[in-house]
Formats: sequence, C-alpha cells, structure tokens
Amino acid sequence: MTEDAAAALGPPTTVAGRRIHVLSKKFDGSTHYSYTARFIDQAGPLIRVWVEAREPYVSYRGEGLMREGFTALFFTDRWYNIFHNLRPMGRRGYLTYTNVGTPATFDGETLRWVDLDVDIVRTVDAIHVDDEDEFALHAQTMAYPDDLVDRVRATRDEVLRLVETDAFPFNRMDHLPRP
Ligand SMILES: [Mg+2]
Repeated sequence: MTEDAAAALGPPTTVAGRRIHVLSKKFDGSTHYSYTARFIDQAGPLIRVWVEAREPYVSYRGEGLMREGFTALFFTDRWYNIFHNLRPMGRRGYLTYTNVGTPATFDGETLRWVDLDVDIVRTVDAIHVDDEDEFALHAQTMAYPDDLVDRVRATRDEVLRLVETDAFPFNRMDHLPRP
C-alpha cells in the first residue's frame, strides 16, 4: 500500500487485535519506554496500534500505568510518531503527543524506535514544544552527530507546521475507535 492508502485510513473498527510489544530506546541504548499494545493495521509506511488506559509500562522514570487510552501512529519512513489520546488527558487537556524519533521498525512482534527527546504537544487550547532542554543536554552527553541534531530540528519545525492543520496524520478523530 502507498502513502495515499495510509492517509485514507479511517477510524479503527476494532482495537482488540493481537498483542505486540512497543520498545523505545534512547540514543545510548538505554530503555525509554516498554509496553504492550494491540495491533490495528498497517498501510504502507504507517503502523497503527491501540494502547489501553491502565496498560502497565516500564520507563526510564520507573513503572506506571497509562493514564488514557490512545492510538499510536508509527512510521517506517518518518522521524516522528504520534499518540492521539481517546479523551483529553490531564489538567491541561492533552489531545495529541508527537515524539521526535527515528523511523520505526516492526518485525511483526516488536515495534522499535529511538526517542530523540523533543515532543510537540497539542492540548485543547494550545500547541507547544517540550523537552528541548533535554535534547540540548543529550546532544552533548550522548554525542548526537551534527546531522542528527539538524534532523531533529527540521522534524520539529515540520511537525509544528502540520499539527495545526488537522491534516493527516494529525486528523486525530480519524484514528480513534468509535464508541
Ligand atoms: Mg520527550
């Protein structure tokens, strides 16, 4: 399937698909997040998975439970992935969380990517960039190559342009299961 096919995907008809493992690392190989998700579908470079509210995770910050259900969009050819929350999450009303990171790889059981710190967050009333301080720190301590630093900044700018259009893949409602 093509990029067009990915863009034409509508809301998942089921979120009860088979279980897969989502495993993200930092650039130095340390664990970022590890959790289980339900495979929804794959269309060309796009892989969609569903993560239940209260799904357990292990992360660099410790163990916890997902606060809200979300559909995650991973790409094998883009330097970001997107988490569309089912409902606005938390006091600030997080709707969509975009992680800048390497393109994903998926072997049918485990989906892997490397987190590159910077996040673009859409809440019910604002869009902002998070963790640029962490990015500046890790660029030094984890010795990011110059071209990787450039790639992260260019991706951040591209996502900021796209996220406010509500166009694919930021068409949140088209990726959420219908009630
Ligand atoms: Mg981050």
